[in-house]
Amino acid sequence: MRHLLILGGTTEGRTLAAALDGRPGLRVTSSLAGRVAHPRLPAGQVRIGGFGGPEGLADWLRAERVDAVVDATHPFAAGISQNAALAAAATGVPLLVLRRPGFTAVDGDRWLPVPSLAAAAEQLPRRGERVFLTTGRQGIAAFAHLDGVHFLARAVDPPEPPLPPSFELLLDRGPFTLDGERALLRERGIDMLVTKDSGGAATAPKLTAARELRLPVVIVRRPPVPDGVPVVPDVEGAVRWLGLPG
Ligand code: NAP
Repeated sequence: MRHLLILGGTTEGRTLAAALDGRPGLRVTSSLAGRVAHPRLPAGQVRIGGFGGPEGLADWLRAERVDAVVDATHPFAAGISQNAALAAAATGVPLLVLRRPGFTAVDGDRWLPVPSLAAAAEQLPRRGERVFLTTGRQGIAAFAHLDGVHFLARAVDPPEPPLPPSFELLLDRGPFTLDGERALLRERGIDMLVTKDSGGAATAPKLTAARELRLPVVIVRRPPVPDGVPVVPDVEGAVRWLGLPG
């Protein structure tokens, strides 16, 4: 019986687990960080919570006799991806990164790519005063020092303080529709979007809506994938890498 560990917390992680669930000769465990109060659970076995750094993960791979790891975590979850690369190198367990492609600008987009959330905050309030913030719950603190800007933030769970002085929270989870995003930006009088280059169809409609409304978008670039680790853009690629029929 081969044992595959999927580091998840993403649509891709769940889709891969569903594609492999019940295949003969294969045991699949999905791992979630435990950040979200009510996570969407993948098919098959699931474990929740950190491993205790790269050493903890390496210990887990050995103890559970893992034969391969697919890192299907979010493109901005750089810590766990680095840990996975270190643990794979220490144990010799093959590692694949499954990372959806980033967003691509098209004609009419007014994007300002920045390297970090801190750099995104530096663009305000010069470029926008009513800002739609979709950087995730943990990204909101980077904007907490800004007054003179009203933030509408959307997140799955409520953020912890510090929060910006003028702040409104929308608790919601994708996928989102173009009609819904267009209406939201219009009704709330948004004049700028701040987001991360997460990629994926579930959250892309806000970028289309921003383009239609000619709104500037500050977009945080992705951290790099750890050196030397193979990367595929989709679940089919991961199934092929595992040497399994599609
Ligand atoms: P991170 O900063 O890269 O990781 C911090 C620590 O959380 C890791 O060192 C690890 O703890 C634990 N961890 C993260 N992912 C884990 C997983 N799949 N299974 C077990 N432990 C995990 O991670 P993050 O950015 O906070 O993201 C946490 C989770 O949320 C990820 O699974 C990611 O796929 C998902 N997510 C993140 C974002 C985002 O924007 N960052 C968006 C959507 C979903 P130990 O060192 O103790 O092992």
